[in-house]
Amino acid sequence: MSPVTSLAKRSQVCQQEARLILAKILSFIFSFGLSQLDEDLDEEFKDDDTWTMLIEQLYVFAREHGPRVSARLMAMGGPVGSCNNCGQDTVDLVWKRCSLCGHEYERDQDEPN
Ligand SMILES: [Zn+2]
Repeated sequence: MSPVTSLAKRSQVCQQEARLILAKILSFIFSFGLSQLDEDLDEEFKDDDTWTMLIEQLYVFAREHGPRVSARLMAMGGPVGSCNNCGQDTVDLVWKRCSLCGHEYERDQDEPN
């Protein structure tokens, strides 16, 4: 492997690690805000394009934050389904809406898994 190829691969690994760290930090901040400060920062970010960017472009964020959202939904006692849009177990089956990506499910159409 040439030094240039090695450097390019190392740079790619560093970018992946940086995205994972960023995803973990963001997920922690959102969860901490809700559990310790009673601030639902998710909902504030969902009001603009930031949340959509996080879910659609920073895939590791959905993987990191999805289980936390799913655990919160289960703790509230609601039935939870899997979202066809983001792939996380974050669909509130009572409201027919994904609590992570916001995808809405109409009755008898596009049912969550
Ligand atoms: Zn979703």
